[in-house]
Amino acid sequence: MTDVDYSCWSEQSAPRPMEEALPAVEPVISGYSEIPVRISGRHIHISREHLDLTYGSGFEISPYRDLAQPGQFAAKETLTIVGPKGVIEEVRILGPLRSKTQVEISGTDGYHLGIDPPVRDSGDIAGSPGIVLVGPSGAVTLREGVILAATHIHMHPKDASTLGLTDGDRVQVLVDGERDLIFNGVLVRVDNNFITEMHMDTDEANAAVIDDGSCVRIIGKILIS
Ligand SMILES: [Zn+2]
Repeated sequence: MTDVDYSCWSEQSAPRPMEEALPAVEPVISGYSEIPVRISGRHIHISREHLDLTYGSGFEISPYRDLAQPGQFAAKETLTIVGPKGVIEEVRILGPLRSKTQVEISGTDGYHLGIDPPVRDSGDIAGSPGIVLVGPSGAVTLREGVILAATHIHMHPKDASTLGLTDGDRVQVLVDGERDLIFNGVLVRVDNNFITEMHMDTDEANAAVIDDGSCVRIIGKILIS
């Protein structure tokens, strides 16, 4: 179209067919599809091994504030994260401890730190960039573990059955507000221990101009994967 060398107009560029990129959905009953949004700031899920190395052997984190999801809490403890180009202090640890350390940041944080993490579902950290964690008792260099957490919905089974959804479904979500926006392919996770809410990071919330606790609407379930 012009002489400018945009990658999306290169000969190698082969976009997905539109019906794959923006698939058809089976609508849910609109009156019941409003769910609240929880905005996740940057945080760290930490393993026993990495807590030992940064806070000292056998150290136990202590709750600072309970999170809406039962059993989950923000800890009093924080760590400094150090990337190739920048540093972010006081990144909150979330409890309880996990088997693998996972650092969830925003794309803006990644730019500041000098790393380019992939968008991943929680727990899927293979091949993601590493980072240095610094605590009061020492530092540890992670080889991988930094991700931009994919937007997802925690859902109680009762709400899932009302909406005709099951664990692992992907949905389209409408932000019907100051800046209308559709999140496509949002993963629904259903568990008896969950409170129904959508989780997104600060970049996503800012892009959609929404606040913590705002409501969004599930448009429908994606019919092809
Ligand atoms: Zn979540």
